[in-house]
Amino acid sequence: MSFSLDDLPIRDDLRRLTPYGAPQKKVPVALNVNENTHPIPEDVARDIVESVARAVLDVNRYPDREFTTLRDSLAAYLGHDLTRDNIWAANGSNEVIQQLLQAFGGPGRSVLGFPPTYSMHSIIATGTGSRWVEGRRDEGFRISPETAVSEIERTRPDIVFFCGPNNPTGTPLDLATIEAAYDATDGIVFVDEAYAEFMPADQPTALTLLAGRERLVVSRTMSKAFAFAGARVGYLAAHPAVADALRLVRLPYHLSSLTQAAAVAALSHASEMLAMVDDIKAQRDRIVHELTELGYEPWPTWSNFVLFGGVDDPTDVFERLLERGVIVRNLGIPNHLRVSAGTEAETTAFLEVLRDIRLSS
Ligand code: PMP
Repeated sequence: MSFSLDDLPIRDDLRRLTPYGAPQKKVPVALNVNENTHPIPEDVARDIVESVARAVLDVNRYPDREFTTLRDSLAAYLGHDLTRDNIWAANGSNEVIQQLLQAFGGPGRSVLGFPPTYSMHSIIATGTGSRWVEGRRDEGFRISPETAVSEIERTRPDIVFFCGPNNPTGTPLDLATIEAAYDATDGIVFVDEAYAEFMPADQPTALTLLAGRERLVVSRTMSKAFAFAGARVGYLAAHPAVADALRLVRLPYHLSSLTQAAAVAALSHASEMLAMVDDIKAQRDRIVHELTELGYEPWPTWSNFVLFGGVDDPTDVFERLLERGVIVRNLGIPNHLRVSAGTEAETTAFLEVLRDIRLSS
């Protein structure tokens, strides 16, 4: 018998768990992890390389532990009168969430989330020894203020997790729900806004609720709209005291000087980096439209992806798309698949292959 994980003296609460596992396959059309599939503009790439090259000359020294320039750049990008004191960053918003739970969750504390939602929320809760508690959603995956309050009163969590727009459903999150949840708890209210840039431009985000709400935390990422997933930069905005709490748990120098240099250079080209967002939104809306015509049931989405129902056998359709060079996401939601909006050409490829599959079945 070969030695395995079960034979190690691992923590009991980690036994028999499965790790995060979105397949990473090299295929021509990868629409499975909600990346921005547009390459970054060449002049921006050159600027980033020059900025990183300058940073390399000082790489014998530890980086700025406070990543001050990066926090200034992120505050300027977000607006809403935020300053560097309101900002915290880490290697992807996953790490931001982990640090948040290290500081405010942990053994003996609970996190209320509303599935179906981003799978890493519960995985990070478990990894930090926090108890993950599941709340119910209303029809159409929405969460009304009344539902949020009744689930908080039922479960009495230490932390409430929202995701708006929600992954994997694309569902908008009403600000009234966040406000009601905040008033119903003494704990941290966390809103994951990884996809905020794909919302309708005239819609307010949870950033507008931060003033006067010291326990509200809003996270963002450069991985999606900003086309920066490989660089690993996520961040949050909150009262400065929240950043002070995270200083207690972060590892010193957690953001490398190369990451900081790359992110600051990219942020100085924010409008160019975000130029593809409108295009992606247009492809998303096209997917919703064409899937409906094919007889599928796409959910309304404010994100860069579409969850669609009406799929008789998601595993079979996933495999048949993959055979033809298109990867989407099968999240185990019965009769559903999720697809990210790609470039126009990628989106066309996905829709054409799916149409063939639909017509041949
Ligand atoms: N939040 C949500 C809702 C996500 O979908 C993702 C990535 N799929 C993340 C956070 C993590 O992003 P990153 O760690 O790349 O910032």
